[in-house]
Amino acid sequence: MRRSLHIKLVLIMVLLIVSLMVVVGAFLMNSVTGYYIDEFYQQITDAFSQENVDFVRYLQTATEDEEDGAAMVSAVLSTYEGLLGVDRRNRNYFVLDGADHGRCLDGSAPIPEGGVPITTNISSALLGVPGLHSNVTADYMDAAIPITRGGHPYIVYILDSRETARNLNTEMFSLIMEALVLGLIISVLLSFLLSMTMVTPLQRLTDGIEEVARGDFSRKLEVTSGDEIGQLTASFNAMAQQLETTIAAVENERNKLDTLFLHMADGVVAFDREEWVIHSNPAAARLLGRTFTQEDRYGELFGDLYTFQQAEAAPAGGLAGSRTVDGRYLELLLAPFAREGQGGVLVLIHDVTEQRKAEQMRKDFVANVSHELRTPLTNIKSYAETLADGVGDLPSEMEKKFLGVILNESDRMTHILQDLLTLSRFDSGRSELRLTTFPFAKAVDDTYQAILMDAQNHSHTVKLRLPGHMPEVRADRERVMQVMMNIVSNAIKYTPDGGRIIISAGYIGDKVWMEVDDNGIGIPESDRDRIFERFYRVDKARSRQSGGTGLGLSIAQEIMNQHEGGLYLVDKEEPGLTIRMELPIQGPQKESGHEG
Ligand code: ADP
Repeated sequence: MRRSLHIKLVLIMVLLIVSLMVVVGAFLMNSVTGYYIDEFYQQITDAFSQENVDFVRYLQTATEDEEDGAAMVSAVLSTYEGLLGVDRRNRNYFVLDGADHGRCLDGSAPIPEGGVPITTNISSALLGVPGLHSNVTADYMDAAIPITRGGHPYIVYILDSRETARNLNTEMFSLIMEALVLGLIISVLLSFLLSMTMVTPLQRLTDGIEEVARGDFSRKLEVTSGDEIGQLTASFNAMAQQLETTIAAVENERNKLDTLFLHMADGVVAFDREEWVIHSNPAAARLLGRTFTQEDRYGELFGDLYTFQQAEAAPAGGLAGSRTVDGRYLELLLAPFAREGQGGVLVLIHDVTEQRKAEQMRKDFVANVSHELRTPLTNIKSYAETLADGVGDLPSEMEKKFLGVILNESDRMTHILQDLLTLSRFDSGRSELRLTTFPFAKAVDDTYQAILMDAQNHSHTVKLRLPGHMPEVRADRERVMQVMMNIVSNAIKYTPDGGRIIISAGYIGDKVWMEVDDNGIGIPESDRDRIFERFYRVDKARSRQSGGTGLGLSIAQEIMNQHEGGLYLVDKEEPGLTIRMELPIQGPQKESGHEG
């Protein structure tokens, strides 16, 4: 770069000097010639003007006995040589015969052979008009003035070879040439100087720019002068600094976006204008159950929903689609993105499986509640109507029985509503535990004592197995008892009369546990996952008959969850069911209750 700029500088300088010299030289030389010519004619005109009356008179006045007029004219001219500028070398005078076609009669120089050539000025003088015209193209100047002496017409002819002007021009030309050489030397030196003051800082600037272009912003260029280059260097430093800050900010943004993309639950797949995959996140691969490469194209992935052109022309909110992959419901949103000619299509994948399930559960729940309440209500209504229709006609036992049914059904409804209320409290987080520390073994024993009668009514054998030592537990005693009662009464309910029920308890690590094992009807494999769902009952008729609502185990599990414990079915080979509850000895760690 340095060399080329230097050569350019030298060339410009040389060109400048040469063109300047050519213009000045041409102008000067032209001026000198012009001046010389003007001077000549002015001198001749002045010589023959009124100012030099004597000279003109001597020329024109012949003496009385004059024999050779031309010689006399020549003598006068010779005397007045200075006036006419005749030097007899470059400028001479000639006396021509005005009556004989300008024949040369005399002159200050030898008469050329064949006489003086007849020029335009001589022709003019032959007609009696002074010939004072300059011929630019000729290499001479002449003037022809007609005079009359002694009645004979003569022509005073002054001829200048322009040699003086030519010599002057030659002199000037060599002077200009010398100046040119000097100018060229100066220009080369000057361009070196310019190169030192301009090109070197520019070179440094270029190096700096190249480094910045390579991404290295650390180097600061030294500002060595206050001139334009210095300002440029300072501006460049400021620009590099700004660029560094901007790039850092952009990088930061991109990292943020990358992290977001990487960890977001929704899938994102981006396509460029040519429909190739340019970006995808792990969530997209997980949700669609496949990996993406840059070889994948829009058509084979989402072409079934919309064409690429449709997606590219999607309205502001994008185009919505849905798809089911491996039993999961996915909602897709296709939207274009564009920026300065680049762009493409972005596909967002949102997993709505849980939402759908929750929605379905909500619908089922409402349907279940309606159904559960309608049955006792229908019974109450029909018995009440029968009673109302037959007031006084029905036997009193019948009335008693009917009223008994009505009371039973209302109790059942109250029971259901109470259970629903309890669940609703759990759902809204309004149900707080009243935590106390109590002996766990005592609670198990109390449950055992409470159900003993009921079990005996069904001829069940109930065994209680408690270890010698059991720790105290921090929990809501009333709720824990509710869970225990629920699972033990289920064992009684769902075991045919004469069954065997074993209640055992113990502790392991920081947990206490209680298991209730029966040899009853058990739960079919397909229903095992669902018995903790609200209103779920394996055998609806049997459950209802025994006063069950299908909400007991849901509530029990909620209570255990709130205690950070658990309620599970234990796998077993023999018929019947084993259900186990676990509680942390220290009570729940998340503060969801208060000390009661
Ligand atoms: P319910 O009020 O109907 O007893 P639960 O929520 O307590 O409601 O129980 C849900 C369902 O789980 C019952 O309807 C029953 O089908 C089944 N179940 C619970 N415990 C047992 C058990 N010990 N043996 C067999 N089935 C049981």
